[in-house]
Amino acid sequence: MTGPVLRFAPSPNGRLHLGHALSALLNFEMARDAGGRFLLRIEDIDVGRARPEFEQAIYEDLAWLGIAWEEPVRRQSEHFSDYEAALKTLKAQGLVYRSVATRKEIADEIASREAKDGKPWPRDPDGAPLYPFEPGDAPAGDAPPAWRLDMRAAIDRIGQPLSWQETGAGPDGETGEVAARPQAWGDVLVARKEVPTSYHLSVVVDDALEGVTHVVRGRDLFWSTSVHRLLQGLLGLPAPVYRHHRLILDDDGRKLSKSRRDTSLSELRAAGATPADIRRMVRL
Ligand code: GLU
Repeated sequence: MTGPVLRFAPSPNGRLHLGHALSALLNFEMARDAGGRFLLRIEDIDVGRARPEFEQAIYEDLAWLGIAWEEPVRRQSEHFSDYEAALKTLKAQGLVYRSVATRKEIADEIASREAKDGKPWPRDPDGAPLYPFEPGDAPAGDAPPAWRLDMRAAIDRIGQPLSWQETGAGPDGETGEVAARPQAWGDVLVARKEVPTSYHLSVVVDDALEGVTHVVRGRDLFWSTSVHRLLQGLLGLPAPVYRHHRLILDDDGRKLSKSRRDTSLSELRAAGATPADIRRMVRL
């Protein structure tokens, strides 16, 4: 038996903060304590926001924390063909459709439905309104298409309820075998206009390609796992075990953001914090 495979998968579009430190340390130490492998993956599909200096800072911050990872690091921007292949599989199953609707057309449609219904349009678990068009009725135009998953058809295709094994906990304490609720997300994007993939698609493809056995990440991604389980089912990929960990909140009880400098690891280091201080600050 080989040991577990864990990964830390930051996006290089800002500085790592205390929440990232907790995630990276948990992954690294779980791998080390179980005699497994620890991988670092750079999730840089957002070509407009990913910046080389942020990627460089990720390496520096992690090394400073005493974390060591396997080389080569997988950079998602170098593997678009893997995600295109997965997208092709979904297309061949007739489960995705082109969407050329602009942000404005989507927002206008939602506003008009809310006005008509006199109540808010349904929101996804992150609080964003669901995509309001049906596969056949979206505006047609010649803008480059994004690709959306036909959620109803995809769930029908799987034909049975999906679940995952959770060894951490969700926002309401969900743990153990958790029932997936992909329908709560509506017709999610599987490929954007600019890149042939999306967060959801590339994360499931990479976790499978890299043989990740345990996904340890922040609780803010708990319900995304529903979409990940669905895509794994459609693409015939194995399901890792999931552990969603507590979030590090700021003094006002809000999630830390990458744009806040005062909790960034580089800023804390420059102010004299040691790796041991960081561990204390994240209560490890
Ligand atoms: N790249 C994602 C982030 O930085 C994390 C993805 C994951 O762990 O599944 O929020």
